[in-house]
Amino acid sequence: MRNIIKKKVISLKPSATLAINERCKELIAQGKKIYRFGFGQSPFPVPEKIVEVLKKNAHRKDYLSIQGLPELRQAIATHLNKKTKNTFSKENVLVTPGSKEAMYLMHVVFDGEIILPSSSWVSYAPQAELANNKTHWLQTSYENNWFPTAQALEKKIKSIKSNKILLILNSPNNPSGTICNNFKELAQVARENKIIILSDEIYTDITFNNRYESISTYYPEGTLISGGLSKWCGAGGWRLGFLAAPSELHDFLINVKAVASETYSTVNTPVQYAAVEAYNGDYEDYKFKVRNILNSVGQYVYKKLKSNKIFMNPPQGGLYVMPEFMNSKFKSSAELCDVILKDTGVAMLPGSDFGFKKDKMVTRLSFTDFDGKKFLEGINTHNQLEDEVIEKYAPNVVKGIEELSKWSKNL
Ligand code: PMP
Ligand code: GLU
Repeated sequence: MRNIIKKKVISLKPSATLAINERCKELIAQGKKIYRFGFGQSPFPVPEKIVEVLKKNAHRKDYLSIQGLPELRQAIATHLNKKTKNTFSKENVLVTPGSKEAMYLMHVVFDGEIILPSSSWVSYAPQAELANNKTHWLQTSYENNWFPTAQALEKKIKSIKSNKILLILNSPNNPSGTICNNFKELAQVARENKIIILSDEIYTDITFNNRYESISTYYPEGTLISGGLSKWCGAGGWRLGFLAAPSELHDFLINVKAVASETYSTVNTPVQYAAVEAYNGDYEDYKFKVRNILNSVGQYVYKKLKSNKIFMNPPQGGLYVMPEFMNSKFKSSAELCDVILKDTGVAMLPGSDFGFKKDKMVTRLSFTDFDGKKFLEGINTHNQLEDEVIEKYAPNVVKGIEELSKWSKNL
């Protein structure tokens, strides 16, 4: 047969996050004990009232407008304005089937080059590549909480020939679990150099200190925002996301919308109605509990795992920590993760999937292998949870961390 596959797609593998999820499912089906610290999915149920609204709207079968239900776009704009102190209107918002699709369409439309901090989420670089946008990695370090410094950003911008540049920032970050402390300085460099920023705010509602911070507050005219229901609302499988663009980038949004109209047409109707409830309703108590559980479990993992063999930052938001193993026995972080999975049943993702050099022994650990419904029902405190509570409601996390810690002692 002739080779009918485009060259750049031949080398594309299924996304690492989804691949580890499927691998874990297979291993579990074979009867193996697996600690599912690979895939990053919210363990919590969608709030009941939002599910009720979804059910009530299941009969709606007509296509909605390409850009999305106006009430939903308004609800998202209001949410963003409250959190970022901006002035989005419903015209500035495009509803998308997950924020991942919003980002992909953004790459399709954007004509320029992309700066990605390492660490960065697994899909940014492949999406850029698929859409023919050149990627430039910007190294970060533990000292700056795994975000770029303003000087490093400036230097990187100057090293790129094109003057059309887009930087992706994600805080709280996947995979490092840390938040950005220097948005103001980064915004100043971005403004001076007229670069565009995509602020990926999919985890920002689950910042553990409950301070929603967005670079768009400091650089509104040049910042696109993506977000959605997958993380704070536990609705990853509902595939509801958005892209918001300031009025200065309205043409860009309109072109993204045109590409949307030629691909997914419109996001599924009942979910859009349910999402209006998610953004307009008061879910502060749910969010508070979700943050408290994730924070408590995350700090537990940090406390039990960090040692002279494992280096890591305490998590500040989201679902992840990023342990670095002090060892030179393995050739790559991918090999390290394979051996750990074989030896202990602990599944993690290698740092190489997130833009780190292959020989940096960094991994991403998602501390979400617990029943979020039982956990939510079992606690009624807003205080940080005691170890006994975590042992009761997150036994797989506790056992998996114990196995990993034991394993690391022999490094
Ligand atoms: N950004 C980051 C950093 C992610 O981890 C994910 C995975 N959920 C996404 C974006 C995409 O999320 P979704 O498509 O479910 O909105
Ligand atoms: N974002 C999740 C993760 O990083 C998984 C979902 C996805 O990759 O689309 O594990």
